[in-house]
Formats: sequence, C-alpha cells, structure tokens
Amino acid sequence: MLISMHEMLKPTREHRFAIGAFNVADSCFIRAVVEEAESTNSPAIISIHPSELAFVTDEFFAYVRERTLRSPVPFVIHLDHGASIAHVMRAIQCGFTSVMIDGSLLPYEDNVALTTEVVKLAHAVGVSVEGELGTIGDTGTTIEGGVSKVIYTEPAQAEDFVKRTGVDTLAVAIGTAHGIYPKDLKPELQMHILRDISQRVTIPLVLHGGSANPDAEIAEAVTLGVGKINISSDMKFAYFKKAREVLSRETWWDPNAIYPEPILAAKEVIRYKMSLFGSTGKASLY
Ligand SMILES: [Zn+2]
Repeated sequence: MLISMHEMLKPTREHRFAIGAFNVADSCFIRAVVEEAESTNSPAIISIHPSELAFVTDEFFAYVRERTLRSPVPFVIHLDHGASIAHVMRAIQCGFTSVMIDGSLLPYEDNVALTTEVVKLAHAVGVSVEGELGTIGDTGTTIEGGVSKVIYTEPAQAEDFVKRTGVDTLAVAIGTAHGIYPKDLKPELQMHILRDISQRVTIPLVLHGGSANPDAEIAEAVTLGVGKINISSDMKFAYFKKAREVLSRETWWDPNAIYPEPILAAKEVIRYKMSLFGSTGKASLY
C-alpha cells in the first residue's frame, strides 16, 4: 500500500521505532527496498532526490506506484531535498505521497515563508511535507551535498518553525553529514539538542546523513523522537562494491546476470538498518 508520510510516521513515537528512507535511482534499488520490506514485514520509505528524479524521469514512477500499491506492506514515495516549488509540484504530479522542501540555507523568515507555501499546496492534495532547520554536513562523497560546517538546529527556533509552517516532519541538524565519513572525521552527534527539540515539538523528527554513524547513537536518536532515518551511501556502497567484484570476475554483459548479486548485497544492508531502527515486523501496525 501507498500512504502519506504523516500516516507512516504516526505510530513511531508511541512504539519507539524509526523507518528507513532509502534513496533509490533505478529499478534494482526499488526491488532491493520493496522486496526486503516485504520479506521482513517492515514499512519503508522510497526517497528520491531531485537529481535522481531527473535521471529516472517521471514515467518511472508509474512502475514504482504500481509495485507499491499492490504490496501488503506500507510505503511512502518521498521527494528528498526539494529546493523549489517546481521540484515539489513535479513530484506531486509523479504521484509522490510526501515531499521535502529544504529551505535551510535561506534566511530563517524566507525558510518559514517557502515551507508554509509548500505545506499549503501539498496538504491540499493529501501530500505530507518535511522541512529542514539547521544544516546537514557534507563529506564530499554524495550527490546530496551539504555544508562544510554544520549549523546545529536551535531548539526554540524549531518549535517556532513547526508551529508557523505546519510541517508534518522536521529534519534536524545534530551533527550528521551526508555520505561516508572519511577515516579522520568522526561524527559527533549532539544528543542534548535532539532531546531538547523532541520535548518542544510533537511531530516526528528526521535524521539525514544516517549512514556510517555508530549504531548506539542511532538507537538512542530513535528513543528521542526520530521517526525517519535517511540511508543512501551505506546501501549504495555495498551494491557497487559487489557490482565491481562481479564485473571483474565475469565477462557478462546481461544486466539480469550481473545485478542479482549486487541487489542481494544492498538487501543485506537494508535488512540490518530495518532491524537497527526497530521497523522489522511493524507493517502490522498499519
Ligand atoms: Zn539529506
């Protein structure tokens, strides 16, 4: 089944689990996420960045919608880091059930104004909205980018932002970065900021840059109101590591011979994350 993010994240706080949002940019990753969610009875979020949407093209989502609508497990099709009204409208036209509007690099009042406008448009057609406050770091290894210096989310401002914009979920900056961290860079998550925000707002919080953080910190974040955790690099890294291995071992050129092993490698990461976030078996809550 295909539901909105609002519906998807509703039980997460009470039941203390989070749902993985997996970035996909082709049908192999759709298969990895959807099939793994079905086999572990876990809800899952299919996340697509504007640059990934440009790559797969709009027609791709007829397939994604058909596949997820037929499933007994709940899915959300979500726009990751939408940067403009145009991005958001395109995603809604493609049948997404949730959009993110990332105005985090704008002056605060401009972020409030843009996010409020998106909430008005998206809610009119039953689509959920994720906003962002503070900035996510950048390890320099992803398409999502980010900033070199993280600006932590200010808890009082987060409270004001949620009240004024009416967003369904909020991405917060507590020290994570997009991508795989270089060996000399250790992420330092500021759990006290997360605790403060979660006491001020009741909507589920979102953690971006969820790859390669220590498992214990992720598990703690879930207990502090994080309901959605974005995973991209960890899963893609495992997939392409296996793809390189297959291609160096074999002289095949048929995609249906090459891709099954990388899909299995991606599924292993997805299964592990679902279990870490506590979403395994939670499809029965919907
Ligand atoms: Zn992100």
